[in-house]
Amino acid sequence: MKCPYCGFEESKVIDSRPTDEGTRIRRRRECLKCAKRFTTYEVIETVPIVVIKKDKSRQTFDRNKLLNGFLRACEKRPVSIDTLERIVDEIEGMLQNSLDREVPSSLIGTYAMEKLKTIDEVAYVRFASVYRQFKDINTFMEELNKLVKSKN
Ligand SMILES: [Zn+2]
Repeated sequence: MKCPYCGFEESKVIDSRPTDEGTRIRRRRECLKCAKRFTTYEVIETVPIVVIKKDKSRQTFDRNKLLNGFLRACEKRPVSIDTLERIVDEIEGMLQNSLDREVPSSLIGTYAMEKLKTIDEVAYVRFASVYRQFKDINTFMEELNKLVKSKN
């Protein structure tokens, strides 16, 4: 961060606090050469996650869509919305932490199924049946068998 007075590139931070709206950080700095003080604002970067769909089209990751999918799968199940929001947060965090800015929708589906499996098995099977688009009873049974086996 260049000093606006002398152009020197090194300064020390003497105060740092978020702005009222919380989206920027205000820093008070002191130039290491001329000792003059100046203020910088740093913007917190939020990079949207782009989802690559099956037909290769792109779409911004929408956490509400994922949450709605979970809500549908958990209809009449003893799962609280807090729990579902937590797993949506976890999935979003996993996506944010990956170095790829573009993720295939299948990866999100896999994460979603993994999370749901630990919470409610009925919801998991419902979600999987929609997500995997089971074409017949055999693929559905296969998934159920996998679930039963994974419990042993
Ligand atoms: Zn300076």
